[in-house]
Amino acid sequence: MKCQFYHGLTVAVVIGFLISSPIIADIYTEYESLLPPAQKWAGKSEELIVAEDDPWITPAEASGLVATPSYDETVAWLQKLVAAAPELEMLSIGKSLQGRDFWMVIASAEQAFTADAMRATGKPLLIAHSGIHAGEIDGKDAGLMLLRDMTVAGKRKELLAKSNFLFIPILNVDGHERISPYNRINQRGPVKMGWRTNARNQNLNRDFTKLDTEGVRALIKVLNQWQPDLYLDLHVTDGADYQYDITFGGNGRAGWSPAIGNWIEDTYRPAISATLSDYGHVPGGLIFATNDMDMQDGFMTWSGDPRYSNGYGDVIHLPTILVENHSLKPYKQRVLGTYLLLARTLSLLAEEIESLRQATQSDKQRRPDAIPLSFKANKEQTPEPVMFKGISSERYQGVAAGGEVVRWTGKLVNKPIAKTYVDQPTIMIDVPAAYVIPAVWSDIVDRIKLHGIEVKQLTEPLQTQAEIYRLPDAKIAAASNWTPNPFEGHIRIDPGEPVKEIIDTTFPTGSFLISTDQPLYELLVLMLEPQAPDSFLQWGFFLEIFTRTEYAEAYVLEPLAQKMMENDPQLRKRFNQKLKADEEFAASMYQRMMWFYQQTPFYDQQYLLYPVARIPN
Ligand SMILES: [Zn+2]
Repeated sequence: MKCQFYHGLTVAVVIGFLISSPIIADIYTEYESLLPPAQKWAGKSEELIVAEDDPWITPAEASGLVATPSYDETVAWLQKLVAAAPELEMLSIGKSLQGRDFWMVIASAEQAFTADAMRATGKPLLIAHSGIHAGEIDGKDAGLMLLRDMTVAGKRKELLAKSNFLFIPILNVDGHERISPYNRINQRGPVKMGWRTNARNQNLNRDFTKLDTEGVRALIKVLNQWQPDLYLDLHVTDGADYQYDITFGGNGRAGWSPAIGNWIEDTYRPAISATLSDYGHVPGGLIFATNDMDMQDGFMTWSGDPRYSNGYGDVIHLPTILVENHSLKPYKQRVLGTYLLLARTLSLLAEEIESLRQATQSDKQRRPDAIPLSFKANKEQTPEPVMFKGISSERYQGVAAGGEVVRWTGKLVNKPIAKTYVDQPTIMIDVPAAYVIPAVWSDIVDRIKLHGIEVKQLTEPLQTQAEIYRLPDAKIAAASNWTPNPFEGHIRIDPGEPVKEIIDTTFPTGSFLISTDQPLYELLVLMLEPQAPDSFLQWGFFLEIFTRTEYAEAYVLEPLAQKMMENDPQLRKRFNQKLKADEEFAASMYQRMMWFYQQTPFYDQQYLLYPVARIPN
């Protein structure tokens, strides 16, 4: 989940201060009572928990579903299960920076433990992972219970009879081992949990296009090799309080995969919600409060950019569901809800695989001439009121905060509130026939290839018309209140308004030519168009172009400028006009000299020139 509302750093510093005092430290063992009141909960899903003496009790169940096992305990338990269950195999899909394996459990009734063998079964394939944010670990403990019940316990064998399942219990394995009771202040359990980011403080769920992290690189490789029908990314929320204990959704009906978006809303949601409700849970759609102080102000949908799992899935036409359990609900309730969601997803896949594959095919076959670079809220339409299962809140004057703070009262309020759809394209971009990247930027190309995009290298010069962008007003992106620069180890760039030029040029041998006539062309466009929020340019991969190089001395510019004015009366006139109109300019020898320098062929022609070219259709 996005944590937009608190400065993580500030909170960490304050806690670090206070726990050094033994008197004050007591409040941290009881701080849960400071959270908004917990709703009393009991549900039929509690029947899923096995008896204390069950030989296959999971470590979390053994704790009464209040604690979660460590990485080593998790792996050891799974290894024991896999050894006893012929339907299971464990595969390391890569290693973290600290040397831990990313384990994936393969569940197949036919023991089809390779991608090819699994495809040959023709059965639906679900992939799910937990712990991309390692403190949000409900999915791991739910998955362990379900794997047991589908195999050695014999309770849900029918699920594997009809579907295959890939399960990555912990994606951010190093973050998972940064364990503490103090890692997520607005979350009710488990008693100790992992940390959001990895050992280099990178957020894996911002990494789906740039691919800095070992974890997401490993995952993308798996998605490419195994080609699942549906992908689930399991999280826990931050932010507002409400009654829903499990919220989930895709990237909306109007995203890059509209047919899949409709399938998720019309087929997936009703089926999953019905099961969850039957078992005592309160399912809902993904919720982003318009105002975190008061849900009555309404909420918005969200259309994630491809840096996020759900945005990435939408762009590559992989049906993807983001699951957000509600952080203020007890751990037991959240784990059991996730179990049901996973189990019902597997059975639904068996029932609805035809309709899902049809939707996926239809989105893959769309070839629009122009695609949206991102989505924004629909401001034209009056937000539609929808029934919302909320919790009432009030505000009070915070002594420490020095301003109004929200207090959630625990009282249930069911009433309609405004829902705003984030479904309007920000910018539409014509899809070119191809992009050309100069050979010197091969590091960008390496990342593009990791996605499974085909790249060719010119074996002879290519003479052609091309479009290039100049970025005259690009600048370092402003810091936001929750994101100081740099962000994710990158200096983010605001591209300003790119100026397109059409040129006749010859690309030399060795240049990378990337056709858009391939399945992942939309992802390619979103990584290479400067105005796309997750373009390599905006992630700061082209910082070199923002430095103007070579020097020009006044002793040569002054006589040159005089000659230019003598030879070109129009230029002299423009100069004089600028002197009159712009005081700062007139007073600056540097600006005056630069004005002339820029109009000579000596000036750096590659300054602020984006090196990636487009070959128009
Ligand atoms: Zn999360």
